[in-house]
Amino acid sequence: MKECLFYSKQSDGEVRCNLCPHHCLIKPGTTGLCHSRKNIDGSLQSLVYGKPCSLAIDPIEKKPLYHFHPGEECLSLACTGCNLRCKGCQNHEISQVEPSDVEHYELRPEEVISLAIKYKQSIIAYTYTEPLTWYEYTFDCCKLAHEKGLKNVLVSAGYVNEEPLRQIAPFIDAANIDLKYFNDETYRRMSAASLAPVLQTLNILRDNHVWLEITHLMIPGTETEDEFRSMCAWLVENGFADTPLHLSRFFPRYKLTDGYRPTPIGTLQRARQIAEQEGIKHVFLGNV
Ligand code: SF4
Ligand code: SF4
Repeated sequence: MKECLFYSKQSDGEVRCNLCPHHCLIKPGTTGLCHSRKNIDGSLQSLVYGKPCSLAIDPIEKKPLYHFHPGEECLSLACTGCNLRCKGCQNHEISQVEPSDVEHYELRPEEVISLAIKYKQSIIAYTYTEPLTWYEYTFDCCKLAHEKGLKNVLVSAGYVNEEPLRQIAPFIDAANIDLKYFNDETYRRMSAASLAPVLQTLNILRDNHVWLEITHLMIPGTETEDEFRSMCAWLVENGFADTPLHLSRFFPRYKLTDGYRPTPIGTLQRARQIAEQEGIKHVFLGNV
């Protein structure tokens, strides 16, 4: 365990976590919504520090990043936990569980770097769940990776507060951020999150010159054509016309199975047409 950053002590032994917009008020002996930060005797502790549950070598295109070191591989790792509750989560077996429910490795940040070097990987990706909920581990690995000349890739839903993001941004070389919906109510209903913090994340990463690509999973029935068009217009107006946009095909999963079907290819093609009409220059269809 490791004491968390970004929290404050409250009365009666409770703590307030200020890492993400949920601002969980956590009673002694309990965890926040992401399951990975626990109040132990009035101190907020990361339960997953140094305990990745997934390790793999992936093509960088799998993140997806298409315009950042194409053709290269990256050491990819994840700890359990996520601060969102996406009903169609592809990785719910590791994102929506208690850390103790899943087997894990013991790997200090310096061992992660050694592993990357041993397997000739010059890029480390923090991915599969939500790397910002295991912020302390992600941060220490990123810092050490830069000291050793390696690059860091963040794959995230971008639901994080401003200060933690600004502190980690200088150590991130590239990020793929999910922009799931362009409607606050849908964000709440489908993912237990909200839109504004995600837009703020995109702006902060852009201002910090992090190479950005954006993923938009197209779940049938969750957005109108007007909403999608507004999202593309917002991206162009805010300086993301050159940012690759990945329109990802949905497949029924987790809580979105009954009555759900894969996104029709025609829907994705129509969306690409709209995105290009609005001025986005690099639009890719994913999972097809
Ligand atoms: S990071 Fe986790 S514990 Fe902290 S506010 Fe967000 S969901 Fe709650
Ligand atoms: S943000 Fe990603 S990992 Fe978290 S619940 Fe949503 S799809 Fe799953």
